[in-house]
Amino acid sequence: MADTATRDATYDARWYLPKYDTVEEERLHRKHRLAAGFRIFGKFGFEEGVAGHITARDPERLDHFWVNPFGMAFSHIRVSDLLLVNSQGEVVEGEGSVNTAAFAIHSALHEARPDITAAAHSHSLYGKAWSTLGRLLDPLTQDACAFYGDHALFDDFTGVVLDQSEGKRIAVVLEDRKAAILRNHGLLTVGQSVEEAVWWYVTMERSCQAQLLAEAAGTPILIDDDVASLTRSQVGAHVAGFASFQPLYQKITREQPDLFE
Ligand SMILES: [Zn+2]
Repeated sequence: MADTATRDATYDARWYLPKYDTVEEERLHRKHRLAAGFRIFGKFGFEEGVAGHITARDPERLDHFWVNPFGMAFSHIRVSDLLLVNSQGEVVEGEGSVNTAAFAIHSALHEARPDITAAAHSHSLYGKAWSTLGRLLDPLTQDACAFYGDHALFDDFTGVVLDQSEGKRIAVVLEDRKAAILRNHGLLTVGQSVEEAVWWYVTMERSCQAQLLAEAAGTPILIDDDVASLTRSQVGAHVAGFASFQPLYQKITREQPDLFE
């Protein structure tokens, strides 16, 4: 596997991607990061009842994805708990059932975006509070610039997402961007890797919190367009998302090694 440290500021989009000798190795890498992603979500309190899901495309069966079993606490999920779901929503590996909303949203995204490996969605507090405003995030901080010109607003809440047509409409609005704010619902992020999708979610949730705090306290100063674009090319690059996940992964795997079971 490649060194995950940021080696230079050029952000070559390919150098960091791990190399695998077999598809089994690649699958295991994804499942480790996926299980760790759930533990990270659990630790940050991103859970709201049974809502929330992160998916990882299978490296071999490209129309299948790995997902959390319905009703299992994020902070309990182990690699062996992950379910493999096919394009019809049937569980083909693992024990348990898949959340209908998880399948409806994520299957459409994975189909519409062959460039993405993973997608994350949850009902975390600051993301859903921000989503009620029906606004995109502003470039208020260096971190928020990751989303500058690179996130969408899905401005159409119609209740719990239960069929694929709504997932398809979300995919249309998302286009080629890394994230969407689902109005009156929450946040959605995608990535070329599980690492990226999880990191974008974490930092987007915090960017929502930062903007809510800043606007409650006064009138925030926006970063200029050209500087925000430049900053997005730095902190918002695929490699930056991948690298930013690593400290979280190191911490959670040391604290909760049972996630590998
Ligand atoms: Zn939801």
